[in-house]
Amino acid sequence: MCGVFGIFGHEEAANLTYLGLHALQHRGQESAGIVASDGHVLKSHRAMGLVADTFTAEVLERLPGKAAIGQVRYSTAGGSHIRNAQPFLVSFAGGQLAVAHNGNFVNADATRKGLEQGGAIFQSDADTENVIHFIARSKANTFEGRVVDALRHLDGAFSMVFLNDGQLIAVRDAIGFRPLVLGRLKNAYVVASETTALDLIEAEFLRELEPGEVLVIDADGLKSSFPLEKRPPGRCVFELVYFARPDSRVFGQSVFEVRKNLGRQLAKEQPTEADVVIAVPDSGVPAAIGYAEQSGIRYDLGLIRSHYVGRTFIEPQQSIRHFGVKLKLAPVVSTLAGKRVVVVDDSIVRGTTSRKIVKMLRASGAKEVHLRISSPPTAWPCFYGIDTPSRQELIAASHTVEEIAKYVTADSLGYLSLKGLHTAAGDPEGRSFCSACFSGKYPTPLAS
Ligand code: AMP
Repeated sequence: MCGVFGIFGHEEAANLTYLGLHALQHRGQESAGIVASDGHVLKSHRAMGLVADTFTAEVLERLPGKAAIGQVRYSTAGGSHIRNAQPFLVSFAGGQLAVAHNGNFVNADATRKGLEQGGAIFQSDADTENVIHFIARSKANTFEGRVVDALRHLDGAFSMVFLNDGQLIAVRDAIGFRPLVLGRLKNAYVVASETTALDLIEAEFLRELEPGEVLVIDADGLKSSFPLEKRPPGRCVFELVYFARPDSRVFGQSVFEVRKNLGRQLAKEQPTEADVVIAVPDSGVPAAIGYAEQSGIRYDLGLIRSHYVGRTFIEPQQSIRHFGVKLKLAPVVSTLAGKRVVVVDDSIVRGTTSRKIVKMLRASGAKEVHLRISSPPTAWPCFYGIDTPSRQELIAASHTVEEIAKYVTADSLGYLSLKGLHTAAGDPEGRSFCSACFSGKYPTPLAS
């Protein structure tokens, strides 16, 4: 998962990209990067870590120009290493080129092998680098033509931004897995993974890019085309469940409202007698509010999340029980003691966090703990840009709901149904969504 941002036609392109990336930080915390163009030369800064730690005023001053793209990264394909930090900036026969990618190419291994056999030397292990090699090899005589040529070799999820000395090109794959929106700030155009990035820089939201759209932004304005083969839609439903920020509008809907709906639907499908509804913050909060509203059970703060957990921490020699989760979440005893508690989270992946949370709630005096999950069991890995573990590590791939309840030590466990998820997300048949992580029905062929 990653966040991408691009701006064309603004004096402060790099500074605004920095802010845009800051708003997209939830989409990736491993590395951050910006490439800016002054119309002649493209300059880059990439580093491991958070946007606010990576970019200083001095660094941003070294990125002049009216156009810029940026990325925050969370590795799916390719390890967590500076060589995989984006945007990638290269020089080739057609000049300089930068690219930032959110998504995953499903045929990247095979195409990379072909490129390497043809003499290509790769500098990273990220799937994104394939595009650059295909662009360099393209016989098309425009930047747009080269980008389209390159994308025709690749399949999977891609919301991407490309930059050269005169154009910014934004593309969204024909299935439309990942979001990408277009906005306007005075005379500049802005593209971003989520509307929250537009809001921060006070850009006006214009529209979402369509699946399969190639949008060229240059001195002449906007030019949109649909050169990629048309495919049935497959918008990632997990963006609405977990990934996107709740204040964003994604796929035309308020993420917060969808998540509250998921909670309401969950309360209808998985009711229970209880005294209080609490959320696992932050991801479970909107659904918990919806659950409380629908069930009539009071919502309260039962867990407080620390927002200051660093990347490394020192554990005292005398080991503290559930240390990792305790650093992140602290129980509010006055909410929990003696109560029958419904605790709402958005998903269970391996089950290890849920188990620790349930134990923590009991240790704080909760009389009963009923775990409610605002999505169906996550039983299938994602190949489209969300970092999920292998199928073996997904607890729901090999355990029934009863077995998972036992493992996490909850008095009861209830998941939202797939039909309920689609209904609450506004498409009861789910035809416009990719729900492969819940259903195993992948909308593209997968590399074997
Ligand atoms: P686990 O202990 O593996 O079951 O972790 C479950 C928690 O991870 C839930 O609170 C989710 O909000 C969160 N989560 C779900 N998907 C992801 C993901 N792809 N990356 C990071 N966290 C996730």
